[in-house]
Amino acid sequence: MVDASVPPFAHSVASQRERDIARMRDCLQLARVAGDDVPIAAVVVDGGGAVIGRGVNRRERDGDPTAHAEVLALREAGRARRAWNLGDCTLYVTLEPCTMCAGALVLARVQRVVFGAWDEKAGACGSLRDVPRDRRLNHRPEVQGGVLEGECSALLREFFGGL
Ligand SMILES: [Zn+2]
Repeated sequence: MVDASVPPFAHSVASQRERDIARMRDCLQLARVAGDDVPIAAVVVDGGGAVIGRGVNRRERDGDPTAHAEVLALREAGRARRAWNLGDCTLYVTLEPCTMCAGALVLARVQRVVFGAWDEKAGACGSLRDVPRDRRLNHRPEVQGGVLEGECSALLREFFGGL
């Protein structure tokens, strides 16, 4: 879906920030259907603003250690595109990606990664390590952390508080 409210010349920092916040709200809504899994969700948006991939953490449901929201969203986007290269895409996710997911984002050549809450224990986009900005790798996505950080971390706190 192309956002008609954004004129083509208005790719300013402010309008990008507004788009980031709107997409993060989509992720938050998606994360609420995670059931028994830790509520984490991701969406992939293409260069034209269309959502081409969605993912919700399914590790418990699928008994799959790799079923993280980001990986599932990248897989859906790749299927939609019939291509692994998502070079014009932005991935939004409610929690800082782990080492596996940060690696997958580099492999998919995504242009930007936008996340909500920081994950000091396992985050690989600036916390524990910084995979997207590792100069030894052949692709370095732009990273924006802390978008709707309060709401994203509150969702996780509610989940763990309710166990
Ligand atoms: Zn992950």
